[in-house]
Amino acid sequence: MSPTQITSVSYQPLNLPLIEPFAIATGTQYQVENVVVQVTLADGTTGLGEAAPFPAVSGETQQSTLVVLQELEKHLLQKDVKQWRTLAQELARLASDAPAARCGLEMALLDALCKHYQMPLYVFFGGVQTQLTTDLTITAGDEAHAAASASSIVDRGFSVIKVKTEGVDVDYDFRRLLAIHTAAPTAKLIVDGNCGYDLVRAQQFVNRVRESGIPVILLEQPLPREDWKDLAVLATTCPFPIAADESARGAKDVARLAQDQSASVVNIKLMKGGVLEALQMAALAKVHGLGLMIGGMVESILAMTFSAHFAAGIGGFDYIDLDTPLFIAEHPFTGGFQQEGEKLTLNAEAAGHGVILASPLS
Ligand SMILES: [Mg+2]
Repeated sequence: MSPTQITSVSYQPLNLPLIEPFAIATGTQYQVENVVVQVTLADGTTGLGEAAPFPAVSGETQQSTLVVLQELEKHLLQKDVKQWRTLAQELARLASDAPAARCGLEMALLDALCKHYQMPLYVFFGGVQTQLTTDLTITAGDEAHAAASASSIVDRGFSVIKVKTEGVDVDYDFRRLLAIHTAAPTAKLIVDGNCGYDLVRAQQFVNRVRESGIPVILLEQPLPREDWKDLAVLATTCPFPIAADESARGAKDVARLAQDQSASVVNIKLMKGGVLEALQMAALAKVHGLGLMIGGMVESILAMTFSAHFAAGIGGFDYIDLDTPLFIAEHPFTGGFQQEGEKLTLNAEAAGHGVILASPLS
């Protein structure tokens, strides 16, 4: 038996309490209902991954993820983790509509592979850097809540604030943005529409921001996923870069966005299509001169540390949105990136991603 053969795949619910509900235009999450995945190799090496299904985005739930993992497990046993790319392609073929489940498995496979070879994960991805600077998000909520959040975020050492808009009333969204800017005048702002506007309202919002001089550095996903033509129209007059998130689920979407010139930044989230798909998205975006953003669903330190290794290892990510561990009240892990204000620092020596479960799954 090869020492890198997969001898077991285990998984269990990862239910974590949130400090405050995480509200975006398409839904509100009151607690984290993810899944932790562990693979074990013949030499005893274990690898950990996290699936973060977000029903409002992909239709996956914790329960559906557990069912898919039970099915995929059979296809991985006795396979050699050295062939991770072949395995990732097979998972994509078997479970194309369960990207978060596949992503959790791919994470665990790559963690085990890197640990077997004593290699930090960011080195596996290219070794470009070991530090990132993240934003911090203000979720949906009224003007007073938003203003109070903004000044507390700046006090905590962040220079970029991500703002979720509700997408119904342009005037309300603008007043809330203005309240945030007034409370935190030095902060640069990323606005995330989460598909909430149509073209007319998006243009009204952009015009209000332009006239106000509020320092918006990025407008993320203002329109619904399939409004490709309207997004291209908006892009021709928008004074700040547009990022595609929900419209960029995979590499094919990136190619389309580049061809249409409808977005100049791609928000890569590993949960949208898995690790291999994300590598292809990043490569395509770079080839087409699109900027790179890394984000995530509502994920614990486990999945977010994996994403930090991904972005730091590849390099060239201009927008970092890896803040959800700060929303989670408690978790069962040790290790992972160290965070001081907006600075994330990877453990440059630990093999794999460096996140360990306090009591391993059996
Ligand atoms: Mg987004």
